[in-house]
Amino acid sequence: MKAMVTTGARQMVVREVECPRPASGQVQVKLEYCGICGSDVHYYKDGKVGDHVLDHDIVLGHEVAGMVSEVGEGVTDLKVGDRVALEPGIACGKCIFCKSGHYNLCREMKFFADPPTPGALQEYVVHPADLCFKLPENVSSMEGALVEPLSVGLHAAGTGDVKLGQNVLILGTGCIGLVTLLACKARGAAKIVVVDLYDKRLEFAKKLGATHVINAKKEDVKKRVDEIFNGEGADVVLETAGSVITIAQTPFLTKAGGTIVIVGQSAQSEVSYNFSEVIVKELTIKSIFRYRNSYPVAIAAISSGAIDVKQIVTHEFSFEDSKMGFDTVIEDAENVVKAVIKF
Ligand SMILES: [Zn+2]
Ligand SMILES: [Zn+2]
Repeated sequence: MKAMVTTGARQMVVREVECPRPASGQVQVKLEYCGICGSDVHYYKDGKVGDHVLDHDIVLGHEVAGMVSEVGEGVTDLKVGDRVALEPGIACGKCIFCKSGHYNLCREMKFFADPPTPGALQEYVVHPADLCFKLPENVSSMEGALVEPLSVGLHAAGTGDVKLGQNVLILGTGCIGLVTLLACKARGAAKIVVVDLYDKRLEFAKKLGATHVINAKKEDVKKRVDEIFNGEGADVVLETAGSVITIAQTPFLTKAGGTIVIVGQSAQSEVSYNFSEVIVKELTIKSIFRYRNSYPVAIAAISSGAIDVKQIVTHEFSFEDSKMGFDTVIEDAENVVKAVIKF
């Protein structure tokens, strides 16, 4: 089979490799779609993400869906021909985090394309059957690949406990900002204010259901937020931009008694933050790391029509053109919301 191998910063080649066969409890999946995620792009662009330095060749890609092509011993709930979305993280299943249902915090987690674990940008992959979620007929394989980023948005909105009629504010309109917007809308948020630096992205956010948009390059964010929320701030503020500036803004944009959810990770790990504002307003600060137990929810939400996730896809590339896809994401950041690779 063919695998798309990243061999260094901005280097990607097709390599012929042996096709993996499913062991007991695993299935082999013939991949159909792979989303290009920010973390994949970081590795491709710089050869590292944070402390994780890429010192060997790696297959990237962790947002994947495809069709079951072989089932391993003992697999009873999937059969050849089933289309599935693959949850990319394999947790140990034994530690206190796994046992308490917080498996995203498992220290033994092996996550596609999180070195040294290889990713899934290759024709076939083997994966535990219990992490392959069957797609209903009305959910396409492309939507199946988008279940991964959507899961982050669902986990963000769920952690913020966004409720019917509440006002929310989302900082950042990258892919994660927009799936968070879709999740907040599906949970019944009333006013959804979105902040970014690019008009094009803000227009896109409006199409997806933002009720108000603020361009932080042109407008005073705090002043506009006060106008929109009558001086009270948002019930829930979700920070997805991952910049030290937007993280520091969060307590000033949140209503007293409200909740801040930190989703984006800034390149700089220490951030100056006004805790007096947090205390006098009795704010709650929460954070998320990936997601847990959200694949079934995401698939049901797409299938029922509650969330139309395919709207975020702006670019599609063939498997052979993967390098072009990654380069486009880097060079045309303003226009690419979500790029996917079709096998
Ligand atoms: Zn992702
Ligand atoms: Zn564990």
